[in-house]
Amino acid sequence: MSIKSKSAVITGSTSGIGLGIATALAKAGVNVIINGFGESAAIEHERQNLEKTYQVKAFYHNADMTKPEQIQQMIALAQEKFDGVDILVNNAGIQHVQVIDEFPDKKWDDIIAINLSSSFHTIKASVPSMKKKGWGRIINIASVHGLVASPFKAGYVAAKHGLVGLTKVAALDLATHGITANAICPGYVDTPLVRKQLPDQAKEYGISEDEVIQKVILKDHFIKQFVKIDDIADLTLFLCSDAARMMTGETLCIDGGWTAH
Ligand code: NAD
Repeated sequence: MSIKSKSAVITGSTSGIGLGIATALAKAGVNVIINGFGESAAIEHERQNLEKTYQVKAFYHNADMTKPEQIQQMIALAQEKFDGVDILVNNAGIQHVQVIDEFPDKKWDDIIAINLSSSFHTIKASVPSMKKKGWGRIINIASVHGLVASPFKAGYVAAKHGLVGLTKVAALDLATHGITANAICPGYVDTPLVRKQLPDQAKEYGISEDEVIQKVILKDHFIKQFVKIDDIADLTLFLCSDAARMMTGETLCIDGGWTAH
């Protein structure tokens, strides 16, 4: 069965991995709602580009993932425009790098809200229409940091471990409704999220930003390259396909061998 004409909500899709996934889904004929922050003209350009290039419907919703009521409004838009969400990609995320005893409370709260709690709220709001249709795909963009820790990332590692747990419960709760829930766990992908953390990593480790890339970021990638956005977009498409119909509650690493050792 093709996913053409299905509908997707991709959180945090104005940049990086989320934009790559939204583009890959649109290319497969999926109508999309994109979400995230950024300059409004640039977002509108991306939205129009998806519609024109791939002949799909694309809407933008500016829901802030720290605000459950705005998340509900975004899913209501999917209900209104597309009769619900068929494919939900929980991708929005932020990072903060600081030693645990100096880690700011506000950063902790924001990371837990955006990287973890928002996925609970999107899932809860999307599942009723998936259940009605007897089909749904929930894909949570976690991280290798959902499975292992790195120093200075208390909020991020806690949230991503939580997201892996949430994925497993969703898989079990929804298994008899034709709905699968899986987590993709990437290693480092060269996106603004990674570029922005270089100065703080350099400060915490006491090394230069170039050294951070070689000695910290690529240290655990046994394939000494960044993961590509397209690698994650392709895995997302696979999880939406019939070939993955029996895969649920999985954590799929795409990390150059990081979690193999
Ligand atoms: P990015 O910074 O390029 O994109 C993040 C997106 O989230 C942007 O669209 C941003 O506007 C949006 N966003 C941030 N705060 C938001 C909020 N409050 N409400 C709504 N949207 C918000 O980052 P990325 O690297 O593409 O990361 C995407 C996801 O992939 C994140 O969950 C991240 O943890 C995960 N991830 C990234 C890497 C990596 O190395 N880049 C590795 C593993 C996992």
